Amino acid sequence: MITPDEIVAELRRLRATDAPTHGGRILSYVYDSGLAAVDRLAADAAALVQPVNGLDPTTFGSVAAIERDLISFSRTAFGSSDAVGSITSGGTESCVLAVLSAREYTRTPAGAGNVVVPSTAHAAFDKAGKLLGVTVRRVPVDPTTTRADVDAIAGAIDEDTILLVGSAPNYPTGTLDPIVELGDLALRRGVGLHVDACLGGLALAWWPTPLPDWDLTVPGVTSLSADFHKYGYAPKGASVLLHTDRDRHRAAFFATTDWPGYPVVNPTLLGSKSAAGATAAWAITRYLGEAGFTRLVADIAATAGRLVDVVGGIDGLRVVGDPTGPVFAVAADPDAATPIDPHRWADEVAARGFTLQPQPAYVQADESTLAASTHLTITPVTSAVVDELSHALRDGADTARGLERSVAPAALRELAAAFDSGAVSVDDALTLDSASTEAVLVGAGIDPHTDPSDAAGSLDLSAVIAAIESLPKPVTAKLLAEFLAAYSNPAP
Ligand SMILES: *Cc1c(COP(=O)(O)O)cnc(C)c1O
Repeated sequence: MITPDEIVAELRRLRATDAPTHGGRILSYVYDSGLAAVDRLAADAAALVQPVNGLDPTTFGSVAAIERDLISFSRTAFGSSDAVGSITSGGTESCVLAVLSAREYTRTPAGAGNVVVPSTAHAAFDKAGKLLGVTVRRVPVDPTTTRADVDAIAGAIDEDTILLVGSAPNYPTGTLDPIVELGDLALRRGVGLHVDACLGGLALAWWPTPLPDWDLTVPGVTSLSADFHKYGYAPKGASVLLHTDRDRHRAAFFATTDWPGYPVVNPTLLGSKSAAGATAAWAITRYLGEAGFTRLVADIAATAGRLVDVVGGIDGLRVVGDPTGPVFAVAADPDAATPIDPHRWADEVAARGFTLQPQPAYVQADESTLAASTHLTITPVTSAVVDELSHALRDGADTARGLERSVAPAALRELAAAFDSGAVSVDDALTLDSASTEAVLVGAGIDPHTDPSDAAGSLDLSAVIAAIESLPKPVTAKLLAEFLAAYSNPAP
């Protein structure tokens, strides 16, 4: 019989194939405080509540106490002494619940309402729209500043609008939307305004330089989401959704006694649920306190400022817009003698030991384009490697300068041409079954059944991004879904 030790050893071998989660080598996905004590504390806290069911805080009183403390902490962080809310499993769940709350509060039937968001808003709102039968209107942002365009948002509101969204800051470029102006618009038009601070809310709350108002203090803001598993440094599985109005909070609850089992009262999407994420987040907020967050955020701000300067000094690249907070994006500088492709640059920086995140160009509804870019998430641990990283950014740029953009695999270029010429329609592509869709991927050299331990290494990410830019978006989405479904299932 296999022993527990052997199983753990096997898990260690699997974990060795992962991107490094500590040490500042990957500038997305993970938010490393750089403090070993924080990670140990989170693990101890999560282990202690491992058997608990977060479904019922009246049976498991620790769950209620922890949620109360986290809400209280969040009230202080986001400027409201009486906001109410729920602890969720993550940013997506918080955003889905914000939309559900707006739909229920306004008594809008599924299929009827719309949510108006800047085009830089997180894709979680599209997911909310799909799940809840709400149309999401992505309104073009200014392509230079990447800030939400308040007049354009005003123009997209109609009598079916149930919610506006602003980001503080947005994920793609780290820009802080004009929340005060959006709040004013929301009040004038009588709709709710959700501030999506999932990414950086817990950093902006202690940002060392003055910022325009962006939180629950802004008139017109009706809800705000922030992820503990990002700049709260908690393991994945904890976010908060706060409402300024108790009825808006209650509107998203699901409660029923109309079945023969126990009374069901769910503030969030899950039924039985782990208490681990929330409890680890709670322990970390207790340990760091406001002073700890302030210190870590000062460190992030200094490092982000340095790296923005480094990129600003590289001929051929530019920082996109005017980022506020802990993340920013880098694009080709079209005014340079030799603009640098940001994805080639990311490849070269990866060869020097740091993984950045490529983002495709995005054509907005008004045909203006948000440039292809590379995203950097700065965390407290980044300061420990900032010299080496700065060197990699500069040196990688010197090698990438003059390299052509990557092109999509030949089979996908042919497919893109077939869409352009009208030989194939998007509807045709969307009716392909799973086996035929997989055949398209394999034909393009993207075989989801290659050995998982070397599949990641053999994927040319720049080429995949090039394919994403050239194919119709619903088709790319279908191909990506097929890839991931097959990749995380056993080979047939
Ligand atoms: C990460 C993020 C989300 C979604 O959060 P998940 O925790 O990944 O589900 C939503 N909005 C913004 C701005 C984010 O950065």
